[in-house]
Amino acid sequence: MQRCKQCDSPLAKSDLACINCGEAIKPVKTKPDFRKKFGKLVTVLFILSAALTVVALFTSYVGSFITLLAATIVLLMVKKSADEMSSSEQ
Ligand SMILES: [Zn+2]
Repeated sequence: MQRCKQCDSPLAKSDLACINCGEAIKPVKTKPDFRKKFGKLVTVLFILSAALTVVALFTSYVGSFITLLAATIVLLMVKKSADEMSSSEQ
């Protein structure tokens, strides 16, 4: 059984992140491109969200514009941290 590097709590093989502290876990048989895939997914979501934000800007749905803007900012931060993770991996 593997344990979390951060808090030393036992982990299930299928876990991708620690249940206790949320630390990302490297599975024993890890897909090497997992982080790249995750980064791509976040990038796609970010572009979609940004596009929808622009659309909302030109419509009268101000409420959804603020929601989409918030989602875009969150995705931007996730994307940035994902990029940092993948670059530190190399
Ligand atoms: Zn942990």
